[in-house]
Amino acid sequence: MRIVVCVKQTVAGEINPFDACAYEAALQIPGAEVILLSMGPEKSKDFLLNLTRLGAKEAYLLCDKAFAGADTLATAYALSLAVKKLKPNLVICGRQTVDGDTAQTGPALSVVAGLSLITNVMEIKQYEGQLTCLTRAMGEQTVDYPALITVERINHLRLPSIRSKRGEVIVWGVGDIGADVSRCGLKGSPTKVLASFQNEDGKRKCKLVDASMLDSLIAEGLQKEKQRIAPKNPEGNKLRNVWIVGEKCRAMAETISDDIRVIDKATAEVEGAAFARKFAAKIQEEKPEVVLWDSDPWSKWAAPQVAAILKTGLCADCTALETDGERLYMYRPAFSGNIIAKIACTTNPQMATVRTMAEGVSDVICAIGKGVKDAKAMVEDYALKKNWETAASRLAVDSEMFPYEKQVGMTGKTVSPPVYIAVGISGAVHHIAGMKQSGTVIAINPDKKAPIFDYADYGIVATAEEVFGS
Ligand SMILES: Cc1cc2nc3c(=O)[nH]c(=O)nc-3n(C[C@H](O)[C@H](O)[C@H](O)COP(=O)(O)OP(=O)(O)OC[C@H]3O[C@@H](n4cnc5c(N)ncnc54)[C@H](O)[C@@H]3O)c2cc1C
Repeated sequence: MRIVVCVKQTVAGEINPFDACAYEAALQIPGAEVILLSMGPEKSKDFLLNLTRLGAKEAYLLCDKAFAGADTLATAYALSLAVKKLKPNLVICGRQTVDGDTAQTGPALSVVAGLSLITNVMEIKQYEGQLTCLTRAMGEQTVDYPALITVERINHLRLPSIRSKRGEVIVWGVGDIGADVSRCGLKGSPTKVLASFQNEDGKRKCKLVDASMLDSLIAEGLQKEKQRIAPKNPEGNKLRNVWIVGEKCRAMAETISDDIRVIDKATAEVEGAAFARKFAAKIQEEKPEVVLWDSDPWSKWAAPQVAAILKTGLCADCTALETDGERLYMYRPAFSGNIIAKIACTTNPQMATVRTMAEGVSDVICAIGKGVKDAKAMVEDYALKKNWETAASRLAVDSEMFPYEKQVGMTGKTVSPPVYIAVGISGAVHHIAGMKQSGTVIAINPDKKAPIFDYADYGIVATAEEVFGS
């Protein structure tokens, strides 16, 4: 089996954590010929060379001025030309990069390169003949080769042995892959960042309270509007029409248009792999101005495919929408939520996924950190009685208190419930990235100096045992 693994070097110079899992997954397939593929600056050459010590004999770096400033569609286009040249049976990508944070490149690449697709892979179950994978939220899926999968944080990348040899890094420019420069880099990117500013959203004024107030604070949080929808357009201009895939984005859609058409998501889901092409054809025929999707795994699987078929821009995880009556302006957190970017889409239809709560999920999430290790059963029992959903920090997952599916944060899932209770969580930026859009945040931690209190509305300075013990 010939496998291309897409890897990106993060701003910090390391391999993107999800891509590390993609590489390890490929190396674990017996007899596989593993090839690394990256698009990046010249300095990524050394990064790739080091990675070849783990098993890939060849690495390809797409490096050319024309590739700079690419959004997910332009990235997928350049990568697709390299993939077509390398002719693998399988392409493995990480679920998303931790800096771009969109989870769009993999699905878009599958469309442009003509590969079947499985996203959010937790386990490769079978790879002979056909490919069967267990996914995080869409059960077990089987597809034909050639295929592309995106993987979750499912393993740990091996370390090189002392005797391991380096492979070869081949640099390809625009000419080597026969790319049309008008579809590459900034020029070929239909989404444009218009402005970016510091996101103060995550930081909150924390009021320290007594543990006895917990129930009333939760009740107060639930009273507040469930979906926090930011700026409605000040002049009252609205777009002609907006399509929404599923009811969840209605409230956001109503801020930008009075004419909203709902595409039935249950029917769409049943259509499976055929959905993207069918829906893209419908959009081409009826030409809605805007199409909005929610941010669940199915939408993240479908929306980038539809955008890639239509060669239109897709903005991920928008927290607010605005319009001047003609264009849509989308706001989204970037770089772990420290920056808010204002983005416009220069093509039609303008598309975005918007942050919403997942279907059927509790209104209260009780997230448990490593600090609760000894009181885990006590907090879980309490949560069960109250009908709260539980979640976890990465250290709680790494120390096997919880499965990965429960992990909230930069390398886990993003949640935005009306009420988020963080118990025994220190408040690292990586964790905050996944919960800062929540409604009321209540932190419980005996360490008064824990950063989590900077991101909470209410703080209870106490141990989990003191709050939840009877
Ligand atoms: C690239 C990268 C990606 C990452 N992605 C994520 C991610 O997606 N999600 C994530 O969560 N982290 C992520 N991390 C890890 C993150 O940086 C932190 O290490 C992690 O969030 C800390 O977990 P924690 O708060 O549970 O543990 P700790 O930092 O160990 O904090 C435990 C807390 O528990 C408190 N405590 C102790 N005893 C008790 C008690 N009895 N009752 C109540 N509280 C108590 C302590 O005061 C402490 O504040 C990532 C890191 C990197 C480098």
